Amino acid sequence: MTSTLQTCFDDRDSLIAYVKKLAPWADGAASQIQGGRLKAEMRLAAINPIKYGGSRNFGDGHVTRLSPYIHHGVLSLNEVRNHALSQCSQPVQITKFIQELAWRDFWQLVLRAHPHWAWADVEPYKTGFSAQDYADALPADIAEGKTGVACLDAFINELIETGYIHNHARMYLASYVVHYRRVKWQAGARWFLQHLLDGDIASNNLSWQWVASTFSNKPYIFNLENVERYFGKLVDTSPALNQPLHATYETLQLGLFPNLGMTL
Ligand SMILES: Cc1cc2nc3c(=O)[nH]c(=O)nc-3n(C[C@H](O)[C@H](O)[C@H](O)COP(=O)(O)OP(=O)(O)OC[C@H]3O[C@@H](n4cnc5c(N)ncnc54)[C@H](O)[C@@H]3O)c2cc1C
Repeated sequence: MTSTLQTCFDDRDSLIAYVKKLAPWADGAASQIQGGRLKAEMRLAAINPIKYGGSRNFGDGHVTRLSPYIHHGVLSLNEVRNHALSQCSQPVQITKFIQELAWRDFWQLVLRAHPHWAWADVEPYKTGFSAQDYADALPADIAEGKTGVACLDAFINELIETGYIHNHARMYLASYVVHYRRVKWQAGARWFLQHLLDGDIASNNLSWQWVASTFSNKPYIFNLENVERYFGKLVDTSPALNQPLHATYETLQLGLFPNLGMTL
């Protein structure tokens, strides 16, 4: 006997109760981010693709938060691009925004051409270590947001509670998992996919490979000064509560990749 899923609800609470019944193992509260075409259109109407270019790397910059709607097909990339073009007098004003949309398309095409790259290293790590040197499983303190590194725990808690984090925060967490804790990127990618509302195997897994250096020519690393610059107003960046990140790039490089020396 086949049963059909209910698609109409009186309100959001009834929808959440229905999903909880279908998936009793899913603990925690529902994200505040709301789905549906109406919410997607409201968010699209609010974007500022011109200011995006100069501010997108900042935690409080003009990023759009459109990714869950794009991932689930509520908005097409074409529609987003056309709307952005209608917001400027010259396309050159929104170059950066269009480039980022293109990244999404690029990752989709790469994975379509090479489906096995979803979980296999595209190339060896360029960190002075081989894949066997990395742990298979994500440590529990990372999964639970209890690393003791204040800014990272804040990003992890946001990821778990809302299902969304800023691109820069994704890069920091991926770098921390792979390079600071020496865990395989696959474990981190799987963890992100469990939480992200925009969780997309192409954008996610290939970005993890980019950070890891298995799909780029060097590992991505960051320090506390960088977090302070881009997220200083939003998370705790005090050195005392972020010790492992509080160092120059030279010191970090030598500590994280001792086999490479200063050759990065
Ligand atoms: C480790 C890691 C994991 C990621 N996992 C995912 C994922 O599962 N799903 C996902 O959609 N994106 C992923 N990204 C890419 C990027 O972080 C998100 O697309 C972006 O943060 C979504 O927020 P936004 O809609 O506010 O983006 P905006 O900055 O406002 O960009 C607008 C749109 O452009 C596209 N876009 C922007 N930046 C990128 C990028 N670097 N790569 C691909 N597309 C981009 C997205 O569709 C996004 O909605 C990941 C990046 C990293 C570093």
